[in-house]
Amino acid sequence: MKKVWGELNIQAVQDKYKTDRNRVIAALDYLDEQGLIELQTKGATDVYQLHQAEVLNDELAEQLHQYFSEKEHKEIRRIKTLVRYFELDKCLSRSLAKYFDDHQDSDQPCGHCSVCRGQIAQLPKPAAVAWPSDQTIQSDLAGLSRVLVEKQQYQLNIETASRFLAGISEPMLTKVRARQLSGYASCEQQNYADIKAKVAIQLG
Ligand SMILES: [Zn+2]
Repeated sequence: MKKVWGELNIQAVQDKYKTDRNRVIAALDYLDEQGLIELQTKGATDVYQLHQAEVLNDELAEQLHQYFSEKEHKEIRRIKTLVRYFELDKCLSRSLAKYFDDHQDSDQPCGHCSVCRGQIAQLPKPAAVAWPSDQTIQSDLAGLSRVLVEKQQYQLNIETASRFLAGISEPMLTKVRARQLSGYASCEQQNYADIKAKVAIQLG
């Protein structure tokens, strides 16, 4: 017990009074209903059991993969839209209202956004950074592939290879400590779609 609130160790009550959890909860609920205590649940943890057979389902893996790659594309599109929005040469407030389907006063420039004040934003283009040579990339990916097969019996695919070169972590890369391999993040300054295209050619 603290000054006002106390914490109940249900396991300890169960052990001491040789009773089950449901009775302890029922007793607490009763006291709460009678207005004798105020019951609050905090820091509860839900425990789940894993259905191995269900999880080891190829179809589910395919579904999840589909889901994540769609999400990846959607996020990339979203960022592109956002960047385009910042660089618009039309009233930003008006464009935003239009985007959210608010057509009130939609033909009136707001008069106070940066565009209306004559300051059209121009985001700096990333400076071109040289790629490692194709030969280097090829030998780095071969090294990664060897380690993945040896340690995890995992066949290197385009996604994992692209993340490796971009320096984006994923569980499989963490497992084999890919960070310490030659080539990790060697293309981190490059556009991800370009990395993927390069890798697709390399891995055939
Ligand atoms: Zn405006």
